[in-house]
Amino acid sequence: MEEIRMPISPAAKDAVAERVGPIDFLTASAERELLKVPGADREGALLGPIKVVHAFWLAGMSCDGCTVAVTGATAPSVEDLLTGRLPGVPRVVLHHPVTSVESGHAFIRNYEMAANGELNAPYVIIFEGSVPDERIAAESGGYWCAMGSETIPKPIPTTSWLDRMAPGAAAVIAIGTCATWGGIPAAYGNPTGAMSVMDYLGKEYRSALGLPVVNVPGCSPVGDNFTETVAAVLLFLNGYGPLPEFDDLGRPAWLFNQTVHQRCVRAGFYEEGTFAEHYGDPECLVEIGCWGPVVQCNITSRGAINHVGGCMNTGGICIGCTMPGFPDRFAPFYKRPPGTIVSSAAARAVGTFVRPLRRITMDFQNREPRWDHEQTVPSGWGNIPAPNALEKTVHYFYEKMQFTGSGDRAASQSGNGANGSGARPVGAGEAGERR
Ligand code: SF4
Ligand code: SF4
Repeated sequence: MEEIRMPISPAAKDAVAERVGPIDFLTASAERELLKVPGADREGALLGPIKVVHAFWLAGMSCDGCTVAVTGATAPSVEDLLTGRLPGVPRVVLHHPVTSVESGHAFIRNYEMAANGELNAPYVIIFEGSVPDERIAAESGGYWCAMGSETIPKPIPTTSWLDRMAPGAAAVIAIGTCATWGGIPAAYGNPTGAMSVMDYLGKEYRSALGLPVVNVPGCSPVGDNFTETVAAVLLFLNGYGPLPEFDDLGRPAWLFNQTVHQRCVRAGFYEEGTFAEHYGDPECLVEIGCWGPVVQCNITSRGAINHVGGCMNTGGICIGCTMPGFPDRFAPFYKRPPGTIVSSAAARAVGTFVRPLRRITMDFQNREPRWDHEQTVPSGWGNIPAPNALEKTVHYFYEKMQFTGSGDRAASQSGNGANGSGARPVGAGEAGERR
């Protein structure tokens, strides 16, 4: 059979091809891995005793949005993980119902090998979508979610794969809010009994390495949050990093310990008490439904893909999609959160006082000291008015406070005219007289 090779990085063509190897669509990739150099010597990670880790993707009640988000990750990318080019991170052999090249029995064989303990390598389970209560479907002879079949036409429920594989997994990682907290399939009125992986496996569940379920929420999640967490866990497995810090709900603490609001690009508007009235306005969105002040999510700083996009970066309100209470506790999405009655009223009151003072200071900082000395602004773009008496008085006391205990105030101001601009320097004495 003709040998087909994976697309490879032109920069490291030979090295990548050597680590990943040829692809045979008709055999299970886990079997191909076994045929390579056995055990720890198997080609894979650049550093560390564990060269290869299998990742088994299971999909419950999902829209595949998490898969789409992860394929867009850049730091690290899925390609980085699959080619094993991150030092210390084992090469990941991904078994995914959507992206794998094998199909039919060859694909299912990978999962059977994991469930039967035949991989001769560690594996992690990645669960996307919520876990349905298959007992409800079984009452009418049906099923909710399944993959593969024991006998035609008897599909194997995804929950059966989870039951069989979770005890031997190095880690179970729930990706997306459906898998982490139940999400939309578990919302009010659902007929499936949908629940999270944590709810399904229970409080006592521990992976083969002693880890409870790791949760990377978001609907859809930030792809980088997931790949970074996987890389951190694999570094730990390989002895190259500490156990990543997780919070009490199993979220990567370094990614979810701050609120959207604390890193929001619109937080300055909130602090000054100016609020959007319509979608598309540039100000803080809290009065048109944003829950950012109470939601743990890093999309405002991380962006959606490659540090670009993200809800309020692009004009959207936060509807709390990373939170266990989503969606029921954040509905209806078009109403403002009740808490804003107090907080935005307080911000408005403070802002009414603070905004004019900041405006005065901003106007002063928008002037070269030379312009005050010469009493003109040589801009051809517009007429800049001179500060009035009130503004001068405010700024006089402002500067008094600013330079108290800081030595020579005049020296710090005079630099502007003597900074090599070629213009006539303003002396220290002049600067002192300017105001
Ligand atoms: S838009 Fe939302 S997250 Fe951003 S500052 Fe306003 S309330 Fe906070
Ligand atoms: S900002 Fe809110 S709605 Fe947007 S991803 Fe984060 S939690 Fe979800």
